[in-house]
Amino acid sequence: MSAAGIDLGGTKIEAQVFDAAWKMTTRQRWPTPKSYDDLVQAMAQAVAWCEGQSRAGLPVGVSAAGLINPATGLALTANLAASGRPFPADIARAAGRPISWINDCRALALSEARFGAAQGFDPALALIFGTGLAGGVVTSGQIMPAFAGLGGEFGHFPLPAGPMIAHGLPVLPCGCGRMGCTETLLSAPGLARIAAHVTGHMHMPEDVIAGRASDAGLQKAWAIWLELACDFLITLCFSIDPAVIVIGGGLSNAPDLADDLARALQLATLKDFAIPPIRLAQGGDASGARGAAYAAWREGQA
Ligand SMILES: [Zn+2]
Repeated sequence: MSAAGIDLGGTKIEAQVFDAAWKMTTRQRWPTPKSYDDLVQAMAQAVAWCEGQSRAGLPVGVSAAGLINPATGLALTANLAASGRPFPADIARAAGRPISWINDCRALALSEARFGAAQGFDPALALIFGTGLAGGVVTSGQIMPAFAGLGGEFGHFPLPAGPMIAHGLPVLPCGCGRMGCTETLLSAPGLARIAAHVTGHMHMPEDVIAGRASDAGLQKAWAIWLELACDFLITLCFSIDPAVIVIGGGLSNAPDLADDLARALQLATLKDFAIPPIRLAQGGDASGARGAAYAAWREGQA
């Protein structure tokens, strides 16, 4: 039994084929087309490539940023030319076979729970601090059951009033249409916005991380980011009570991030209550495709 996963990003499509032991046997990349019709065709060709590397009918899962509304089947995506379109159904039609679909953050959560840093923990929470901010929860080996397809969109929680007022932070419009979402300040671009607010100058997120030990302004920006991140994690602990928190995405490359967050979280939680271990994602670039392949394989077992 084998399976394949296709990770669809804003710039590249990456297909990976796995053997029965979940070892990746081969992979291939293509650029992401800009028009919807070309995108559907490229995805269908990627599905055909996966079958060509393995066998016709193998389970194929697609992992991508954005949401599919289960009530309408229509996509809502910020970085793909697929919003408002029945994207999964169109890929399946063009490929001439079924595919399964999973949000990229939920794919990371599933991959880390089954193969990576969250193995043996239940429930497992995984978060991606990248261009955006979202995550997934895995319970009993499966993504938390869902109603409207919104579970895991934690980045659209409101930011906490206390730190926002204390630091005079701006309440900014979010890509989702709401104001003051956590994503606006806790994503990688959000860290840059905090640094701009503190220092009055533009900084790239990686420059804030690199300079936080030597530059007082960047140090303060990082401290504010940590304070907001800690508040965010506490909210998730109060609602989900995860046994582990796995962190991925660009900001997870910050040295000592897991230790810094654990220390802050221990101080912020209710007196004498345990905090879950905080770990970095292990799958790297492979997590999206592997999680999608695993989700497709699981669907085939059901
Ligand atoms: Zn939002």
